[in-house]
Amino acid sequence: MKKRLLLIYLLLATKMLSLQAQEKCYTAIRRAKIEADKPELKALFEQKEQVLQQFLAEKPYAKRNNTVIPVVVHVLYKLEEENISDEQIRSQIKVLNEDFGFTNKNKLDDSHAFYKYCAAAGIEFKLANIDPSGNPTSGITRTKTTKDFWNEEEFEDVKFSDYGGVNNWDPSSYLNIWVANLDTSSDILGFAILPDELSKNPEHDGLVIRHEALGNVGTAGKNGYGSANLGRTATHEIGHWLNLKHIWGDAVCGNDLVADTEPADSSNSDCPKFPHHPKNSCGSSENGEMFMNYMDYTSDDCMSMFTIGQIERMKAALSLYRSKILTSKGYVSATITENELPNYVEIYPNPSKGTINLHITNEAGLNAFISLVDIFGKTVKTFGTTTNKMSLNCEELPNGVYFIQLQNAEFNTSLKLILNRE
Ligand SMILES: [Zn+2]
Repeated sequence: MKKRLLLIYLLLATKMLSLQAQEKCYTAIRRAKIEADKPELKALFEQKEQVLQQFLAEKPYAKRNNTVIPVVVHVLYKLEEENISDEQIRSQIKVLNEDFGFTNKNKLDDSHAFYKYCAAAGIEFKLANIDPSGNPTSGITRTKTTKDFWNEEEFEDVKFSDYGGVNNWDPSSYLNIWVANLDTSSDILGFAILPDELSKNPEHDGLVIRHEALGNVGTAGKNGYGSANLGRTATHEIGHWLNLKHIWGDAVCGNDLVADTEPADSSNSDCPKFPHHPKNSCGSSENGEMFMNYMDYTSDDCMSMFTIGQIERMKAALSLYRSKILTSKGYVSATITENELPNYVEIYPNPSKGTINLHITNEAGLNAFISLVDIFGKTVKTFGTTTNKMSLNCEELPNGVYFIQLQNAEFNTSLKLILNRE
């Protein structure tokens, strides 16, 4: 008898260890710690879930026009490799818009049994172009830190300047994404704060992602994180940020509070073959577990869908917990229309670090009034009128998107100009 108990114990211990070894998202682990430390918060979260369930029952899938979420990416680096490029960050935004817009290249074929559950979430992500003080921004901050790397005990420090990190921007108006060198001895790719915690811990709100799991170029997939090379860590973490749970409900045959995701007995990894675990012990259909869901633990190239039920839950979270972001001033679309420059006008470099060269090679372009306007159409600087060769000094202006306008009797033109001193 004792021997049998020992065997069961060993089996359980091995199972737990193997589960721990596979953990690549810290969201649920962090949440469980908070709930264990503060039972009053656990009670509050349960209460909020009831309100949310009521909301979902009363207002099923309300169609709303595309929601635009302004994003700020905070890069924390010590070594140059960790100071990832703008290109890598922009590749992440592109992936998010494909995944949430259901335009991802690897989406299921329409003959697949799960295709009918797939949909576009109607949520769009844009790098912020206005910062919390109302100034133009590239939507990217870069902070040099003295930290070699961040281990699990220090994950939250990433969010505080006092601990070597950087504070978040108003989380009711921006999605904050910190990119940092998380301890490479850990499998953790990133984590997010669930939206029902926003009112209690606003300064923690956002996502933290290791630089090797952000976007799909640059350091993406490097240092042994090859299966996280396509930018889907952020897709998964934003799922949490908008209130989704893992599809196995973080327990054996757990509940993810979504009806159309198929019950799963635990997380899946790599990329199983369909159907995977058909008619499993938790009651899945003959189609088995939905391992291609963004809220599983499969590899980036395997994931391809959110379900309609998950999208409803995300939309409910936007309405109940994150409604202020729907009217955020963090992103404004340009009010100026860009038109083609005549071939006798050259403006370079663009993007510029602050000094712009202007060459006019035909007299039709001379004596044009030069002004620089911001994305709201407000004139921020004027430079007199054009001569053949000019150097325009914009050193004192903050980084951001501007339009350079040239006007004379012959022509009237606007060119988008980016100031970026990174
Ligand atoms: Zn997760």
